[in-house]
Amino acid sequence: MQCTQCGREVPEDAIYCPHCTGERKVSDRQVINGGLKGGALGLAVGLALVTVMLGFYELERGIKAIALTVPIGTFTTGLIIGLVRAKRDWK
Ligand SMILES: [Zn+2]
Repeated sequence: MQCTQCGREVPEDAIYCPHCTGERKVSDRQVINGGLKGGALGLAVGLALVTVMLGFYELERGIKAIALTVPIGTFTTGLIIGLVRAKRDWK
């Protein structure tokens, strides 16, 4: 098996290329950045949804409680999607 980054020979069962350990830290950061980007996007979508929801149901208290959980939910979803995507690019 050849490393996709440095092209050197890597053992078949290796999870990380032993020659690319220096670049691994950058990759870890890229994975985190990808997660944060996804989270920020999810949060933006959640806040937009809440704005629309509050526009329709401004007077109902129960809706406001739900509205608070929506951005948290979309943020978490975006974070996970961002992490998974960045990690897939890494491999
Ligand atoms: Zn390598």
